Amino acid sequence: MAKCIVIGGGLAGISATVYLSKIGNQVTLIESSPKLGGRTYSLFDTKTNTEIDNGQHIMMGAYKHTFDFLKLIDANSIPEYQTKMSVDFIGKGNNKFKLEARNKLYPINLAGALFRFEVLSFKEKISVFKFLIKLFIINSSGKFKNVNDWLLNEHQTENTINMLWEPICIGALNTRIEDASPIMFAVLIKEIFFKGNKNSTFVLTSKPLNRLFIEPSINYFKANDIEYHLSEKIVLLNFENNILKKINTSKREITDFDFVILAIPPYSIKQINSNFKILSDEILNMDNSTIVTVHLWTKDSFNIDKFAGLLNSPIHWIFNNGNHYSVVISSADKLIEMDSEDIYKLVINELLLYFPEFEEIDIYDYKVIKEKRATIKSNLTNEKLREEINSPIPNLIFAGDWTNTKLPGTIEGAILSGKKAAEKIIC
Ligand SMILES: Cc1cc2nc3c(=O)[nH]c(=O)nc-3n(C[C@H](O)[C@H](O)[C@H](O)COP(=O)(O)OP(=O)(O)OC[C@H]3O[C@@H](n4cnc5c(N)ncnc54)[C@H](O)[C@@H]3O)c2cc1C
Repeated sequence: MAKCIVIGGGLAGISATVYLSKIGNQVTLIESSPKLGGRTYSLFDTKTNTEIDNGQHIMMGAYKHTFDFLKLIDANSIPEYQTKMSVDFIGKGNNKFKLEARNKLYPINLAGALFRFEVLSFKEKISVFKFLIKLFIINSSGKFKNVNDWLLNEHQTENTINMLWEPICIGALNTRIEDASPIMFAVLIKEIFFKGNKNSTFVLTSKPLNRLFIEPSINYFKANDIEYHLSEKIVLLNFENNILKKINTSKREITDFDFVILAIPPYSIKQINSNFKILSDEILNMDNSTIVTVHLWTKDSFNIDKFAGLLNSPIHWIFNNGNHYSVVISSADKLIEMDSEDIYKLVINELLLYFPEFEEIDIYDYKVIKEKRATIKSNLTNEKLREEINSPIPNLIFAGDWTNTKLPGTIEGAILSGKKAAEKIIC
């Protein structure tokens, strides 16, 4: 049995803690903030009496490690899978275009969904199929600077890029098509379209993130005698002879450990003092990408399904939680300096263009949440840096959505990174 310290109580740190404990190690988790969950958290809005998430987290059937983790911690609120892929895309004037697999017979169902996607012409649909078939046989994504260049080279029209590929890219990679890494985009397309019906489905969670992930994790910790400390910040790492020997927190000094998993993002690692450089400056300064969420509370409901994508709009998704709507703007670095009131006005003006009936809707409150460093930017520079991430210290292991999981910076990537970090520690 090894004595392990996990630093950081986001999903990567929680996952590392659970998997380390499962294989018989003694684990202590230390988190600087007063709550677990990191970038996946819920808060209580006292004005409207509702528990809301810092941002709507979209999951897919492909999130295998996430669902394995939820089963392991015995979460009783496993989210609901769609039985087959179905997404509404909305154009201006509430023009609805469904991307919907009508049956579960994979891959014919996905081919049918693309063929019925009316926003594309017949010729464009054929080009999409040619592109997918070519990707299935040979992956040439590595030759291109960004996703846009790759798609243009594959004869995808501007319309196909704007109406199909851009929403997928920005939604999943939180990075614009002109910046996004073609290698990561290829991974994404293969995960969604080439790996069976379930992978292509969206996973809808009716519960706030705290109740889905955090409460069951805390219950698991308690049931398994796992120590976790909140409001305790790691401030110093001390190395001797290439080994991590001492950790100073805001409250104490810790020397009694065999292994440490550092499950915090590069910008937080940068703030920790240390007598040894564990990561290059390039990695410590990796670019991040913002997500802005606007919560709207209305007296009346309006006619949209559980969620919809907006085509050709600065708004990307709208989620219907029943008289509480969450509007998501990804890759939103430009909005970070904007006042919340101006962001609210921008959102309302867009919604009026897309849903004219919105004029009649009485909005009685709103809240804008800007997450400046929601995810790492999924560009080629960061992807190359991720390949170099390797701890030079035998008893220190990195975890987090930014590590080299070969997945985008997501819940799935964070949970997988924690599991992989735990597996590196041999009992
Ligand atoms: C608005 C928003 C929307 C998102 N949407 C999606 C989505 O739709 N789908 C999806 O899959 N993913 C989404 N994500 C991404 C997802 O939330 C992250 O990938 C994931 O939560 C990252 O987890 P992590 O554990 O790697 O990092 P973090 O959650 O950042 O955890 C790191 C933890 O370390 C703690 N810490 C930092 N410094 C110290 C220190 N010195 N000492 C101790 N503790 C420290 C922090 O307080 C934090 O709790 C979204 C993120 C945001 C913000």
